[in-house]
Amino acid sequence: MAVIQQILFIAVLGVVGWLVFKRIRIIRDTIGLGRSEDRTDQPARRFSTMLRIAFGQKKMFDRPLVGILHFAVYAGFLLINIEVAEIVLDGATGSHRLFAPFLGSFYTFLIGFFEFLAVAVLLACLVFLIRRSVVRVERFQPSRHREMSGWPALDGKIILIFEIVLMIAILTMNAADSVLQDLGSSHYTPTGNFAFSQYLKPLFEGWSEGSLVIYERAAWWIHILGIFAFAIYMTYSKHLHIVLAFPNTYFARLTPKGQMNNMPEITKEVKIMLGLDTGDGGENVVPERFGAKDVGDLSWKNLMDAYSCTECGRCTAACPANLTGKLLSPRKIMMDTRDRLEDVGRVMQANHGKFVDDGKALIDDYITQEELLACTSCNACVQECPILINPLDIILQLRRYKVMDEAQAPNSWNMMFQNLETNQAPWKFSPGDRFNWADHLRQP
Ligand code: SF4
Ligand code: SF4
Repeated sequence: MAVIQQILFIAVLGVVGWLVFKRIRIIRDTIGLGRSEDRTDQPARRFSTMLRIAFGQKKMFDRPLVGILHFAVYAGFLLINIEVAEIVLDGATGSHRLFAPFLGSFYTFLIGFFEFLAVAVLLACLVFLIRRSVVRVERFQPSRHREMSGWPALDGKIILIFEIVLMIAILTMNAADSVLQDLGSSHYTPTGNFAFSQYLKPLFEGWSEGSLVIYERAAWWIHILGIFAFAIYMTYSKHLHIVLAFPNTYFARLTPKGQMNNMPEITKEVKIMLGLDTGDGGENVVPERFGAKDVGDLSWKNLMDAYSCTECGRCTAACPANLTGKLLSPRKIMMDTRDRLEDVGRVMQANHGKFVDDGKALIDDYITQEELLACTSCNACVQECPILINPLDIILQLRRYKVMDEAQAPNSWNMMFQNLETNQAPWKFSPGDRFNWADHLRQP
């Protein structure tokens, strides 16, 4: 029986490893479709940003209670994985609590500490579930935010229930294990009582040894299969941020938020018009496209941003366009970009890793012009994001395409562009009249 379990476990581990590897490859390849952009300057500053924002979760603590609860789930996830390493080794080698003989009483302390984290994770998940389902936090409501209808709303709840089940499995598994140790059952390495699960032992009072073994094994399998399922599921969901938050914050923009990236082609054209040195002899090469029409026109960092988005909606909750009832939601911009990337990934898979035109584009098929035009470029979304995602950067590039490549700017904008060109100001007054307003201030 033990050998069958061992073979089954190794087979499941192999399949899970293969599926996760395949997903990582698709994600890497689709991010690789993006424009190149150098984000390797100032490594020390980048590293410290990553430590503060991703590892220390600094921006999550802008809302202290949520910050503490999120930190509990995050720390639990990171540290409980040490126990998962033991479970995987146990499964592969057919042993039970492999580390216990080497660590002695420290092992019992360590498992007790993990149990404390498991309880913290369980309580935090319960609070988050209540926030989503009973308190109904506004930014998660599908009735108010269309991007949260259907799967995204369900996804958030499923994963919380999933984590609660996993934590219950690990705690009751330990309790059943302790009872089996008390009974002197062979195969159950003596470790002593664990900090929290010892109080669950009365649940198993009067159980036969056989029933206890069945329960302990069932909880063990539920726990490890749950973790395997989560590892696969994570790569398809917003939970990818658990991993991507780290590179995403490392490669975040270091320039001031208000500083917009100029388009090099336009800068060059202006320099040529003004007779300034362009650095390449003034050779004017017309770019294939102005701005971005599809994901391949965005930078790799924009695409990594899309995969990293947690769908928390803090950006949307702060967006003045959204708050005033406009169609724009920066969270939806990120989710749409990821949806497009997923579709592109499927096309690539069907064509041996090559992307072939599927007749769709990020603009119009996923994100509409109305959404893009509603953006005030205020940067509130960028300021709010807990993992330094920049939805505005994507909006600006898509809008540049609409305006410059498709000449689809509204009339009022075109008038402003005309004024900028002829009057060097957004208004239709000649530069010579600019100080007329101060005429009456002149001394006679
Ligand atoms: S920059 Fe645009 S999308 Fe972001 S908060 Fe401001 S208006 Fe909304
Ligand atoms: S872009 Fe940032 S703030 Fe907006 S939903 Fe995604 S993670 Fe949250």
